[in-house]
Amino acid sequence: MKTRTLVLAAVAAVGLGSMVTMASPAQAPAAPKAVETEKIKDTLYLLKGGGGNTALFLTAKGAVVVDTKLPGWGQPLLDAIRRVTDKPVTMVINTHTHYDHTNGQVEFPANIEVVAHENTKTYMSQANPVYALQSGPQPNIFKEHGGQEVLEYTDAPEPEITANDVLVEVKACALNHLDIWARRGLPGIQIPLPHILGNDIAGVVREVGDLVSGVRSGDEVMLQPGVSCGHCLECLAGRDNLCSEYDILGYGRAGGYAELVAAPAVNIIPKPANLSWEEAAALPLVTLTAWHMLVTRAAVQPGETVLVHAAGSGVGSIGIQVAKLRGARVIATASSNEKLAKAKELGADEVVNYSDVGWPREVKRLTNKQGVDVVFEHTGADTWSGSIASLKRNGRLVTCGATSGYAAQTDLRQVFYRHLTILGSFMGSKAELLEAMKFVESGRIRAVIDQVLPLAQARRAHELLEDRAQFGKLVLEVSSRQ
Ligand code: ZN
Repeated sequence: MKTRTLVLAAVAAVGLGSMVTMASPAQAPAAPKAVETEKIKDTLYLLKGGGGNTALFLTAKGAVVVDTKLPGWGQPLLDAIRRVTDKPVTMVINTHTHYDHTNGQVEFPANIEVVAHENTKTYMSQANPVYALQSGPQPNIFKEHGGQEVLEYTDAPEPEITANDVLVEVKACALNHLDIWARRGLPGIQIPLPHILGNDIAGVVREVGDLVSGVRSGDEVMLQPGVSCGHCLECLAGRDNLCSEYDILGYGRAGGYAELVAAPAVNIIPKPANLSWEEAAALPLVTLTAWHMLVTRAAVQPGETVLVHAAGSGVGSIGIQVAKLRGARVIATASSNEKLAKAKELGADEVVNYSDVGWPREVKRLTNKQGVDVVFEHTGADTWSGSIASLKRNGRLVTCGATSGYAAQTDLRQVFYRHLTILGSFMGSKAELLEAMKFVESGRIRAVIDQVLPLAQARRAHELLEDRAQFGKLVLEVSSRQ
């Protein structure tokens, strides 16, 4: 409890504190040429967000927004643009008021074209920022359960570690649906408040406890999300996800929406060199979950057909890959044609749009009226009865979640007449994640990242996840003050 309380403080000065110290030498900006409204419209992704005293950078992937009230915003902005794209970038500044707003903060490289428009603010308010540097109170921790607005970006003291812990400097932390559940609050589950979310963490070991061996300060690591007692029957049998004291980083204890996190040393996995920080953060929880569901629980066999729901979700994107590794034929579902195309790129053999109410019939058609051997369920109420109907005789349904609601209807006649098996699945063991990591290292399981946002934009990231706007994982990038 002591550690947990102190961890909250670690959140602090993350993002902005470090970002604003890296300004480049001054240089007078060249006079920008005026640009037509139509050109901006063509380039922009017209969604929502942004606003304020801002400059807008248009990239192939989306807009990069900066708050020019922040001193020294130039260099971190260029770093952000570089991360988003290596293509030429257009910077739109306001003709009337902001021509000189770079204020000597930054020397723009040749791939940034500076143009002027009389009203950037209009476009700012419509842009969908893929990266934003903004001032003012920002989300990070929450002190009460509720909507996105309860997230606060604030200071906190450094976490303390026990003799068996490591202190990790967080580089990236991925979002999971569990973040949403924890933020909203679940009946009967006590989450100590204020709380720091974040189950999926990658970073650098800063400090190790006195009893820790095999890990050193400076090691690049990812963290197993599950925390268990380590000495009960289940733990010793390698079923640590069934430990009665099982917890998850960022759930019952502080997680990775912070500059520093304390975690048991046994949770450390060396970060494979072929992964970026964002990829390393995006993988653990969903890989563990998908592996446990398909390999351990459903025991998918070569030649079987697996229906994987919500290909655009983090767990769905890995579920497709794991099912393919097992030699299965994969039918993936998603809610839009764009997501279905991406599911095919990930290896799905067939795709079905589940926003069409007749989707179970389409699954039957694709399986010669037989149905599938296995359904990979995590969406819950919206898809449940269709999932049951899509199974062939003697089929298995494995479920790890209920993002659309848990009060699903089951026609029991379907279960007994057709000899179905319903398998619950919760996280997975540490050993299973280590097994799966072999395939991550060889590139056969890869992280699917929709976008990376700075920690200060956690509220926006929650909004995207709740809107199911993404394909793959949303990752928060955490910058250290050093
Ligand atoms: Zn245990």
